[in-house]
Amino acid sequence: MSVVLNLPSWVLEETSNSNHIFTTLEEKMKLAIRLSQRNIFEGTGGPFGACVFEIDSGKLVSVGVNIVVPGMCSVAHAEMMAIMMAEQKVRIFDLGAEGLPDMELVTSAQPCIQCFGGLHWSGLRRLVFGATCKDVERLTGFDEGPLPSNWRVKLTEHNPPIEIIPHILRKSACKVLKAYEGLIYNANSGNLVNQLLESQR
Ligand SMILES: [Zn+2]
Repeated sequence: MSVVLNLPSWVLEETSNSNHIFTTLEEKMKLAIRLSQRNIFEGTGGPFGACVFEIDSGKLVSVGVNIVVPGMCSVAHAEMMAIMMAEQKVRIFDLGAEGLPDMELVTSAQPCIQCFGGLHWSGLRRLVFGATCKDVERLTGFDEGPLPSNWRVKLTEHNPPIEIIPHILRKSACKVLKAYEGLIYNANSGNLVNQLLESQR
């Protein structure tokens, strides 16, 4: 047995200039949001995009989009895909290992409870996000899970601390969430099986 998770083929087009240096948080976030938007447009998953960057150099390490439904995988959120892709690229399970440059997760929306956990174990040093979990729940109906109310404290208490930079291009990120009309799995209310059956009709 093995698990294979493939990002949609169009992702290559969005990241073809691999030598590009991203100089601002806004520029980094623009890529994450563009990925989230194109994922809707292409019909390849949920409205979420994420990237891993080297903090100091501004180099892009990896990207991810949500492929839960096409990938038949409940953990295949954009953030987890970006983290897993970065680890496979660097060939290491800890992106915070000695000798590696400090890296960050830039994500169109705040990590859910799972991706909060994934971030905790990743070795990444910084979290940058656009929309908040509340935005996601309000605008889409996705359930972000029982995130601890002190999640910010938990990240800053992490050893070494994980810095948090919220609300970068939040309005643009929310616009994409609002535009999503696809399947809402793990919804607060509703039944996934019924929605799936409905979407296949
Ligand atoms: Zn998540």
